[in-house]
Amino acid sequence: MAAPQTCPMCGVKILVGIVGGDRVLFSAGPPGTRARLYARVCRYVDKPGCINKDGGSQTASPNDYYNPDLPR
Ligand SMILES: [Zn+2]
Repeated sequence: MAAPQTCPMCGVKILVGIVGGDRVLFSAGPPGTRARLYARVCRYVDKPGCINKDGGSQTASPNDYYNPDLPR
């Protein structure tokens, strides 16, 4: 059963217990991985209360980073 957790620092919801890995619900765009959340949000926040510290140990793909140079 998936139970959403909300990171008190980032304000982002994470669905844990999902087959294939946790899903992060961003305020905009499709759900992503913890690595994506870390790449986009948590590494900038860097506060002790962040529940996604582990995201930094996962490999983020280049698509996981904001890249204003890429056409959308
Ligand atoms: Zn966080």
